[in-house]
Amino acid sequence: MKSRCPVCRKVMDEAGQQSSREGGFYPFCCNRCRMIDLGKWFDGDYRIPAEVKPEEAEDISEETAKGENAASQRDKAEND
Ligand SMILES: [Zn+2]
Repeated sequence: MKSRCPVCRKVMDEAGQQSSREGGFYPFCCNRCRMIDLGKWFDGDYRIPAEVKPEEAEDISEETAKGENAASQRDKAEND
């Protein structure tokens, strides 16, 4: 029976499934697809983490923190 790799949708015939079992990455067609699927679960969705460079990610979180601080300080002033 043929099956499809859940990641890249490549059709695996019985020989392909056999070799993926032997490689330890069944039901995926190859180890790369297996790692992609694991990363997907760890990340919580379908984003590819490597798309954001570490420096850029830091900038984004810094901006967000500043914005939240300013907002909470404003709220405090109003409540006082
Ligand atoms: Zn695949």
